[in-house]
Amino acid sequence: MKIEPRKVLELHQVVKHYPGSPPIKALDGVDLIIRAGELVAVVGPSGSGKSTMLNIMGALDRPSSGEVVVDGQRLSDLADREVAGVRGHRIGFVFQQFHLLEGLSALDNVATGNLYQGLSLRWRRQMAREVLERVGLGHRMTQRPGKLSGGERQRVAIARALLGDPAIVLADEPTGNLDSQNTEEIVELFLELNRAGSTIVIITHDRELADRMPRSVAILDGRISHDSGVDSLNPEADNDPSAEA
Ligand code: ADP
Repeated sequence: MKIEPRKVLELHQVVKHYPGSPPIKALDGVDLIIRAGELVAVVGPSGSGKSTMLNIMGALDRPSSGEVVVDGQRLSDLADREVAGVRGHRIGFVFQQFHLLEGLSALDNVATGNLYQGLSLRWRRQMAREVLERVGLGHRMTQRPGKLSGGERQRVAIARALLGDPAIVLADEPTGNLDSQNTEEIVELFLELNRAGSTIVIITHDRELADRMPRSVAILDGRISHDSGVDSLNPEADNDPSAEA
C-alpha cells in the first residue's frame, strides 16, 4: 500500500462572501489538499480570489462557510487565540514587500519576531543563524536590509518564515518586487528548500513561474479551474505513516 504524506493544509468547500449588493463571492466552494513535501503555486489573474484564499489558508481570516484544517487542526473548532497560535507556530509567511525592519540586522530581523519572545535572545539568534544559513545568507547576517539586494532581502524574509520549522510556508507574490535575476534566485531557493523537505505554497499571478512549480492550481472567479495534481511529491518529506490516505 502506498503511504501518502500527511495533509498539512485542507480546504473543504470553502466559501467567502464579502458584503455588497449583491454580496461578492470571492471564493465559491474551494476544495484543496496540500500534503507534506509539496511545492504548489496558486495562480490566477487579479480579482480571481488569490488574496482571499491566502488569508483563509493562513488563518488570517475565517471562511463564510466550509472547513479549513491546518496541520490536522480544524480551525472552526478553535477560539481566536488558539487560531493565532496555529498561525504563529505552524505557518510561515513571506510577502511581496519583505516587511523587514530597517534598524535591525538581517540576523535580528529573523531573531526578534514576536513568536519566540519567551526564549533568550542568544537562543533566538542561534535559531536565526541556522535558517539564514539555509537560505544562503550566512555571510550577510550582520547587514541591515538597506545594504542588501532585493533578492537578499527576500531571503531574509524567507529565513524568518522558516524559523521554528512551520508545517507550511505561504508566500504571497514573493517575486513581485524583484527584477528577473533576483526572481530567478528566489525561485531556485524555493525549489531547493522544497527538495530539502519544506512544504510551500506560492500565490502568484505569474503563469510562467507557476508552470515551473511541481504542482500548480489555477483559480478563476473564486473556483479552482485546474489542478496539475500531486504527482511530484517529495520522498524526503516528513511522512507520517499513521496519516490517512
Ligand atoms: P486577487 O488576490 O486574485 O486579486 P481577491 O481575493 O483580492 O483576488 O478578490 C476576489 C474578489 O473579492 C474580487 O472581486 C474583489 O474585488 C473582492 N474582494 C476582495 N476583498 C474584498 C473586501 N474586503 N471587500 C469586498 N470585496 C472584496
